[in-house]
Amino acid sequence: MKGIQIGEAEIRLKQGDITKEEVDAIVNAANSGLLGGGGVDGAIHRAGGPEIMEECRQIRAREGGCPTGEAVVTGAGKLKARYVIHAVGPVWQGGGKGEEELLRSAYRNSLKRAAERRLKTVAFPSISTGAYGYPVEKAAPVALSEVKRFLEEEEHTLREIRFVLFNEETYRAYEGALDRLRA
Ligand code: ADP
Repeated sequence: MKGIQIGEAEIRLKQGDITKEEVDAIVNAANSGLLGGGGVDGAIHRAGGPEIMEECRQIRAREGGCPTGEAVVTGAGKLKARYVIHAVGPVWQGGGKGEEELLRSAYRNSLKRAAERRLKTVAFPSISTGAYGYPVEKAAPVALSEVKRFLEEEEHTLREIRFVLFNEETYRAYEGALDRLRA
């Protein structure tokens, strides 16, 4: 597995299916309605069972959902993880609508939720680069630099942030961005 050390924590990249990860929390690329959907969101609800959606329903009833750039936490049902952090990334609209800052914010708030619970290991998918259309070559450096910044600058208990990338093209984009981050 490819990675870099940032203080006591490591950022690692692997190709795979995030629903199989044994970590404290997996992050879902959710939508603001917390309604489930295709892509990684569908895969997480299918593998985790109906409890996760029931908790999402309760959050929706209480808070109206989850705004873009924010993140909320549920249990993980039948998954091996303890929690699912539902983060809402931006829909790509050409890059002039604050997409980069919203994507940074989705990663930052996911890590805040994890740090509040004193978690050590968190797995992320590539937020926004599927149905939401954010070009992966642009999203990868944003994702990695925001995680690095958080690990360097914020108070946390994290030891490993694992990016679990579903296909080769996405993995390659993150690999290139990690090399540039290191340089
Ligand atoms: P978004 O709506 O935020 O773009 P998507 O789920 O459509 O979310 O896509 C985000 C990324 O998640 C894409 O790179 C997609 O290939 C990937 N993905 C889909 N299924 C899985 C999975 N089981 N594990 C990890 N990543 C996945």
